[in-house]
Formats: sequence, C-alpha cells, structure tokens
Amino acid sequence: MKYCSTCGKELHDDAVICVNCGCQVSSIQTELSYNDVPSGGLNFLAFLCPLLGFIMFFTLKSDTPKKAKQIGLYALISFALTLLVVIPWILSTLEVKPPI
Ligand SMILES: [Zn+2]
Repeated sequence: MKYCSTCGKELHDDAVICVNCGCQVSSIQTELSYNDVPSGGLNFLAFLCPLLGFIMFFTLKSDTPKKAKQIGLYALISFALTLLVVIPWILSTLEVKPPI
C-alpha cells in the first residue's frame, strides 16, 4: 500500500492520480526507484568491511532491495576473497616448524 505524498491518503498500488486531492502519484514511484539505485560508495564500504555490508544488506533490503542486493553481493565477494587469502595464510603459518 502506498500513500499520497501531498495529502497522505491511502492509494491503490497502481494508482497514477490521487482520488482525494488529484495530484500525480507517479512522482512517488520515481522518487522510490531513484533511492533504490546501487550506491558505489556503499558497495565499496561493504567490500572493505563485509560484516558492515551484511548489516547494511539486512537493514536496506526492505526499502531499497536493488541497492541492498548490490551491497550484499560486494560483501559476499569480499568475504570469499578474505577466506581465499586468509585460510591459506593461516595454514602456511601453522605448517612452519620450529628449527631444531
Ligand atoms: Zn492526495
């Protein structure tokens, strides 16, 4: 359910013009889709800190699903890369035997 931005009356999801005040409703949709644009900065932040990316993904996915999906993807890529780099590194340090 969406609401008119001018008078606040409840509207049909496919309504184009508000039945109460007659203002155009399509502008609300444009505004919402404008906000739901993948953000390069947030993607980069998610890539730097996957944990923060996952938190942003879960907080944003209801309001801006496209943006949240991108952030989640970058967080996942970063997380996978971290595992690929850190796990072999940990294993290599474990394999080092002290000199006798
Ligand atoms: Zn209205």
